Amino acid sequence: MSHTQARSVIVIGSGPAGHTAAIYAARANLKPLMFEGLTRGGIPGGQLMITNDVENYPGFPEKISGPELMKAFREQSIVQGVEILTDDVHKVDLGRRPFHVWSGDDNQLHEARTVIIATGAQAKWLGLESESALQGRGVSACAVCDGAFFRNQDVVIVGGGDTAMEEATYLSGICRTVTVVHRREAFRASKTMQDRVLRNPKIRPVYNAVVDEILDVSRGEVTGVRLRNVTTREAMTIPCTGFFVAIGHTPNTDLFKGQLDLHDNGYIRTTPGTTQTSIPGVFACGDVQDFTYRQAVTAAGSGCMAALDAERWMSIND
Ligand code: NAP
Repeated sequence: MSHTQARSVIVIGSGPAGHTAAIYAARANLKPLMFEGLTRGGIPGGQLMITNDVENYPGFPEKISGPELMKAFREQSIVQGVEILTDDVHKVDLGRRPFHVWSGDDNQLHEARTVIIATGAQAKWLGLESESALQGRGVSACAVCDGAFFRNQDVVIVGGGDTAMEEATYLSGICRTVTVVHRREAFRASKTMQDRVLRNPKIRPVYNAVVDEILDVSRGEVTGVRLRNVTTREAMTIPCTGFFVAIGHTPNTDLFKGQLDLHDNGYIRTTPGTTQTSIPGVFACGDVQDFTYRQAVTAAGSGCMAALDAERWMSIND
């Protein structure tokens, strides 16, 4: 009915996947509308906005910072004619055509023949009461954002993956000591990143330990972390003024629950080798559908696939 008013493509999300999809869609003359987000699911630009140096995005032999890289992505979208709205999407109805998307404080309705979902993922928390009570008062999930508050101080990080290694290395350049607490007897991070951490005299690993409590809620600031050894059950307290959580990510899929098929871990299910979701005409790219690679360059690659998939789908089905 309202096909004439409906956009060809709405892109939800503004990380490497969303911008690449939008750039390709714009160049195919599909006049994409992008919701770059405001507060929901992180910040516009996605997780690279809280990443310091990016040394593995091809094309930048001199490293580039995450925010600088995303600024360039956004500028390229604008040059190619992408219409960008700095708003959150609050609701979608993928059960009717054209698809319905509501955004902003005034819940404005937008219609589209295809939707490209690129809402990404965000950092996980441990789920302790003391952790939420002290968030922003010494507890953080982003070393690059908050590390500078802990200059020459002692900090603790929890996690054993690449993120934890990266954050530990970054914090070691600012803080006096960095203790990395991991629940197993060895880190799971890549060998190169582990080696960098284990060779660093400022960083101390504590294996086989879980965090029971972050101290001290009654004082409204971080004074230490109470740990428990998982084998001996022995408790120990490490004094610190900063506590960083680096234990992985959760996909931003709340908007789509009950409408699209998701994997058991909450990531959007796509047909292998494509970006097609369980609803024809709805495509997903980047970290919201990828729990294996999760790299900026793979996200950008799948964004390109989503735009090409959407264009082909419209040429056959519309
Ligand atoms: P990850 O690889 O999933 O590692 C999460 C870590 O947190 C694991 O060691 C896990 O322990 C631990 N953990 C999870 N839940 C926990 C809990 N409730 N309590 C205590 N510990 C918990 O996540 P990631 O480090 O964020 O990395 C995600 C992806 O991004 C990976 O593919 C990684 O290679 C990539 N990445 C790459 C770079 C880079 O190349 N520069 C940087 C960052 C991330 P277990 O080991 O027991 O599961």
